[in-house]
Amino acid sequence: MTVDLSAYAAERGIRYFMISYTDLFGGQRAKLVPAQAIGEMARDGAGFAGFATWLDLTPAHPDLFAVPDASAVMQLPWKRDVAWVAADCVMDDKPVDQAPRVLLKRLIEEAASEGLRVKTGVEPEFFLVTPDGQQISDAYDAAEKPCYDQQALMRRFDAIAEICDGMLELGWKPYQNDHEDANGQFEMNWEYDDALKTADKHSFFKFMTKSVAEKHGLRATFMPKPFKGLTGNGCHCHISVWNLEGTRNAFADKTMPFALSEQGRHFLGGIMKHASALAAITNPTVNSYKRINAPRTISGATWAPNSVTWTGNNRTHMVRVPGPGRFELRLPDGAVNPYLLQAIIIAAGLDGIRTKADPGPHRDIDMYREGHTITDAPRLPLNLLDALREYEKDDGLQDAMGREFSSAYLTLKRREWDSYCSQLTAWEHETTLDV
Ligand code: ADP
Ligand code: MG
Ligand code: MG
Ligand code: MG
Ligand code: MG
Repeated sequence: MTVDLSAYAAERGIRYFMISYTDLFGGQRAKLVPAQAIGEMARDGAGFAGFATWLDLTPAHPDLFAVPDASAVMQLPWKRDVAWVAADCVMDDKPVDQAPRVLLKRLIEEAASEGLRVKTGVEPEFFLVTPDGQQISDAYDAAEKPCYDQQALMRRFDAIAEICDGMLELGWKPYQNDHEDANGQFEMNWEYDDALKTADKHSFFKFMTKSVAEKHGLRATFMPKPFKGLTGNGCHCHISVWNLEGTRNAFADKTMPFALSEQGRHFLGGIMKHASALAAITNPTVNSYKRINAPRTISGATWAPNSVTWTGNNRTHMVRVPGPGRFELRLPDGAVNPYLLQAIIIAAGLDGIRTKADPGPHRDIDMYREGHTITDAPRLPLNLLDALREYEKDDGLQDAMGREFSSAYLTLKRREWDSYCSQLTAWEHETTLDV
């Protein structure tokens, strides 16, 4: 569907467009362009100094142009005279292969060339905290088991309902909102869609949630593990693969175990095969590993996996098959880059289909109680460096994601790890001062 942005502005009273691209660390970078200037920008893109954002570029590189994808325009429900539009990075008239949205589009085309159309739904969890980020914003939200807490949910009705109303207005078909398993934590769900659409919505959801929270004197954080002892922010992703017309779910087969077709099993096999390496993308920060390798939380469970295992409808594993024709990857966390999340799933899944990968045995156990009895499933990486090393070792996944992207990502993430290692922490003083 082609959208003429000037006409869109005139119809809806848009005064400004945000031309927005997402860098390697998930940062959303934008220029605010008056509607009067959008015609030219829509054609040539908005200019950026790419090095100044998280892309592996130097100050000597030519301008990076963010060319808006007019089909991905969204009017801000909380500020109707502004519209956000996702953009694709171009340099020297060529797509920038390391740019996450460009990469995702390439993988979607690859899937399409094999007759496949990937549809996904994400569940981004978040906390509402005080503006200084130090505490849960609601002092009364202190129950030991706060999941689905009706009273705490309703104390945040104004913010939650405004975000949900925004999704209704945008036509996303939201269907439920709840208080999650940690004090101060919430989740809002909307219907699954094509992988690119889901990635754009996921990006916009984070922007909208942060903006509406600020408007209400709060701060929303998607940080994987903001508070020790409390369940962290996951970002589960549900996945199914369809024919190109989107009329037949190629993952659904009633005659197979878990009603997961042969192709679905191979796709899942690819995810299982590459799990330790893809964690470098799905769990991209130092803090991420404090969610997946956490001890039991106050609520009784972390709800995050620590091993590469799968099963049916049981939430203690890395992959759950909740119903026919789809599976849920429970590994990703709130820090995941919305475009790289979809890209890595498609990359690993397509490799699984091509190599007829077997997902291995499903395990019908409670991993939190009996996980120690499983000795033949890999442990997920224990920290970011482990994950980056796994990614570096995985040639198949690096090829599928593209060498330019992979090298850029590893370079910047290794730098981040080094920066973390150069910190002197309070813990070190506490435990080492008196040696
Ligand atoms: P849960 O918390 O049980 O994991 P949620 O209801 O929070 O489930 O989220 C489920 C997500 O999965 C939603 O985004 C939903 O639209 C999506 N989904 C449902 N069916 C499919 C499917 N066939 N393919 C991809 N995503 C799906
Ligand atoms: Mg300037
Ligand atoms: Mg959910
Ligand atoms: Mg949840
Ligand atoms: Mg889930």
